[in-house]
Amino acid sequence: MTQKNNWQTLQDEVRKLYELFDRKTMECIDGYMHAGGLIHCGKGCRSCCNLTVNCTFPEAMGVAAALTEEQAGRVKAHAARLLEHIGEVSDLKSYLRMQRRIIGFCPLLLDDGACGVYGARPFSCRSLLSTKESHWCGADFGELSAAEKTAFIDSLDRSAVSFPMHYLATTRDLGQQLEARAAIGMAARFGFSLSGNLPFLIYLEREHHLSKVIPQGCRVTMNVLEQSGLFHPFLTMLDEA
Ligand code: SF4
Repeated sequence: MTQKNNWQTLQDEVRKLYELFDRKTMECIDGYMHAGGLIHCGKGCRSCCNLTVNCTFPEAMGVAAALTEEQAGRVKAHAARLLEHIGEVSDLKSYLRMQRRIIGFCPLLLDDGACGVYGARPFSCRSLLSTKESHWCGADFGELSAAEKTAFIDSLDRSAVSFPMHYLATTRDLGQQLEARAAIGMAARFGFSLSGNLPFLIYLEREHHLSKVIPQGCRVTMNVLEQSGLFHPFLTMLDEA
């Protein structure tokens, strides 16, 4: 199979996984609400778009293909900020803090709070369904008092959420399972999978055409990223099959 066909069939697989996920998610929401629960997500509530969003490279390719030039420009500027500040982080905690406090919101978020690539958004975004008001999705728990944290924890429905978070567990688990299938599909075709920071992976595809390098294998891809100053373990994770 040619490189182009490999990517094409992989993209088709990912699209089918999204359809499956969206169908199952509707059932999960119906079941949760039927049992008296409430999902607070809605168009314009943007708080979770300030979190670090990771995804597989095939998912990022789908988003990259859907971008306007204006969106691509914003992704490029976002990636430049990431590269400027990534050297300041020493561990995962400081990376997540840097993302939230310095880098800021996803560059694909529209001014009205809607997602600019809604149909192509990755599993990480699809699978976060909030059982609490949206301000909790953007809360910095490091800044809450012990009493506030305890009140939050006590308010969670442990039978429904990914404890100690407030997101619905069924959709989060399903999103992770289907995301893993996208990674397996990539590894089956190219001998390794690549995942990482969503805007950064989009940038690698839009500006550096990484999908043309990947068929040469894990080692070559890693070398290209390292030699171009584009590798960082929090931004790009390569996993050899
Ligand atoms: S891709 Fe869309 S839903 Fe996901 S973080 Fe960006 S704006 Fe939010």
